[in-house]
Amino acid sequence: MTTTTTHDTIIIGAGPAGLCAAMYAGRGMLNAIVLERGIPGGELLNTEKVEDYPGFETILGRDLAKKFADHAIKFGAIIKQENVEGVTKDADGWFTVTTSFGGAVYRAPTVILTAGGTPTKLGVPGELDFAGRGVSYCAVCDGAFFKGDVIAVIGGGDAAVEEADYLTRYASKVYLVHRRDSLRASKILQERLFANPKIEVIWNKKVNEMTGEATGLKSLALEDTVTGAKSELAVTGAFVFVGFQPNSGLIKGHFKHDASGYIITDDRMMTSIPGLFAAGDLRVQLTRQVTTAVGDATTAAIAVEKYLAELKAHGKGKANGSASAA
Ligand code: NAP
Repeated sequence: MTTTTTHDTIIIGAGPAGLCAAMYAGRGMLNAIVLERGIPGGELLNTEKVEDYPGFETILGRDLAKKFADHAIKFGAIIKQENVEGVTKDADGWFTVTTSFGGAVYRAPTVILTAGGTPTKLGVPGELDFAGRGVSYCAVCDGAFFKGDVIAVIGGGDAAVEEADYLTRYASKVYLVHRRDSLRASKILQERLFANPKIEVIWNKKVNEMTGEATGLKSLALEDTVTGAKSELAVTGAFVFVGFQPNSGLIKGHFKHDASGYIITDDRMMTSIPGLFAAGDLRVQLTRQVTTAVGDATTAAIAVEKYLAELKAHGKGKANGSASAA
C-alpha cells in the first residue's frame, strides 16, 4: 500500500538550508514537510566547530544543528525520516516526490531542494577498498580512531585545511597532500594550518594509489605534479576532502545547471522548473557556508509563499495536507 500526502511545499534535506526554509515556511503558516534520510543537521554534523555564524563566536556543529532543528520545530516543522529517490513535475503542475524506505509518496505544488552534496571521491585504486579501514571522508566521525597515528589529509580547500587542523588533536602527525603549490582555503584557516607544528604540507603531489593490508591502510603512492617523480607516504589514515558533488540528480527532468551539476536558480532561488526551488550547497554560487545556505533558504521559503499566493489567485488552489492510500 502506498501512502500519498499532499502539502503546500516539500523541503528535501534537513541541513541548515532545509531547517531554515522549514522555519520560515512554518512562520508563513504553510503546510510544509521536511524529508531527511539521516539526522537533521546536514554538513553541520561533520563539522567540529563553527566560528563564522554571526552571534556565535564558536559553537559545535552538532549544537548549532540542534538549535536549527528545535527552532524549525517550534514553528511547526514536521521532519520525516525518508530517503528521497526522485522529484518529478507532473502534467497537473504539481510535484511528486518518491521515497524508498516505506515507499511513501509526497505531492505539492512547490518543492525546496536543499539536499546538499556528497563528498567527491579521488577515484584512485584502493580508495574504496580501504574506506572504513583507514580512508575516511569525515574527520569528526572517524578522527578518534587515529590516536597517535601518522595520517594524511588530501585537498587544499576549506574542508581539507580545517579538518587537518582538527585531526591533530588525535594524530601525532598530519600530512596535508595538495596537488598545487597554493591553497584554495580561506586565509584565516591557512594561518591556523601553518601555525600548527603537527602539520606538514606536501605540495604538488597527487595520490595515485592507496595500499595496505587486511588490517588497513599502510601507504599512499604519490606523484609529483610538476616533475612526475614517484614517492611513497607511510600513513594509516587518509582523509579525503576534495570537494562535493551536488545531489541535484534527484531532479527527474531537464533543469539548468553548470558543468559540475550545481543548480542554476534565479534571484528567488527558483530553478528553471517553475515551482522547484533550490537552496544551499547544491546551488551555483561563489561560496558555500552555513550563512549562505540559510540566506538562500530564507529567500526560497518566502518566494514559495508568494508563488503559492499567485497560484491561488489563478484558481489553482491550495494543498490541504490530506493523505490517501492506494
Ligand atoms: P573545494 O573548495 O572545492 O576544494 C576542493 C579541494 O580539493 C581543492 O583544493 C582542490 O584542488 C582539491 N581537489 C579537487 N579534486 C582533486 C583531486 N582529484 N585530487 C586532488 N585534489 C583535488 O571543496 P571543500 O573544501 O569541500 O569546500 C566546499 C565548499 O564548502 C567551499 O565553498 C568551502 O568554502 C565551504 N566550506 C567552508 C568551510 C568554512 O568556512 N569553515 C569549511 C568547509 C567547507 P585545487 O585547489 O587544485 O582545485
